[in-house]
Amino acid sequence: MSRLAETRPVGGPFDDPGLLVDLRFGRRALLFDLGDLSGLGQRERLRVTDAFVSHAHMDHFRGFDTLLALGLHRPGTLRLVGPKDFADRVAAKIAGYTWNLLDETTPDFSVVVDEFFDGAVRRRTRFPGRRAFAREAADPPALSPGLVHDEDDFSIEAMALDHGIPSLAFALQERRRINVRRDALDRRGLPVGPWLTAAKRAVRRGDPPDTEIATDDGRRLRLGDLLDDVLSVGPGLRVAYVVDAAPHDANVAAATALARGADRLYIESAFATEDLALAQRRLHLTAGIAGRIARAAGVREVIPLHVSPRYLDRPDHVPAQLRAAFAPP
Ligand SMILES: [Zn+2]
Ligand SMILES: [Zn+2]
Repeated sequence: MSRLAETRPVGGPFDDPGLLVDLRFGRRALLFDLGDLSGLGQRERLRVTDAFVSHAHMDHFRGFDTLLALGLHRPGTLRLVGPKDFADRVAAKIAGYTWNLLDETTPDFSVVVDEFFDGAVRRRTRFPGRRAFAREAADPPALSPGLVHDEDDFSIEAMALDHGIPSLAFALQERRRINVRRDALDRRGLPVGPWLTAAKRAVRRGDPPDTEIATDDGRRLRLGDLLDDVLSVGPGLRVAYVVDAAPHDANVAAATALARGADRLYIESAFATEDLALAQRRLHLTAGIAGRIARAAGVREVIPLHVSPRYLDRPDHVPAQLRAAFAPP
């Protein structure tokens, strides 16, 4: 089973957009956008370590306070990624509260903000709780251009779309998907247990076939003998998240490139296809354009987000247009 256990929208299609990515074995979760987080349980909110914010319009950022309030009571770091000057928006939110009770004795909690612009993460700002969140500049993380996150099992790419302001779209790419074949385990009389996690980690690292893997009951096996038998390796999951973007060709091309080959594309479908003029004025996509992006990118599944409440009386109107444009009859 993969570490990327689940991706699910934080709310319904008419709510603030947002996506929860649950990392089952890391006991962590990631969020794309920080709108209204009331659709998450408290345990899910407590697991969020990193949030990737498309832009600082209120419906994408008002949930920051929720995570900040939770963080105050436990040591750790909440890492945020956003567009250029995002740290100023975070600083302004923090400045809205009084912090006289924070000092060196309070839990060591910090907010770290990375800004993605000109195609890379170029600025990092730290807000340490023990210093009443006074902002300090830090070295940006060493990430390849185009990436906003990189760890053993997956990376996250970003692309700035035009929404009058930069609006970041994201794609999470799992490196490799490693599955355990229960029938093969049973055939060889091997136990289920933590050793399988270690074996999968060795595969992800690209360890050589002669690497010795110890099972929980003390047997020693060659990694190469487990591959293509007990462990099957396939391409990793790709999940793309595209929200607020003006309905023009440059955005369509950029979003299509980012979503290319995704297993799941979560995409804003703010306006109905017949309301293109309105979508152009408000700098949002229509369902028809979102569906064409999904089709051109060759995604396997497309899920609508951020549908305008003007269609609340016809809840399936916009999603049906998205489906039709994605897979015309
Ligand atoms: Zn917006
Ligand atoms: Zn929005």
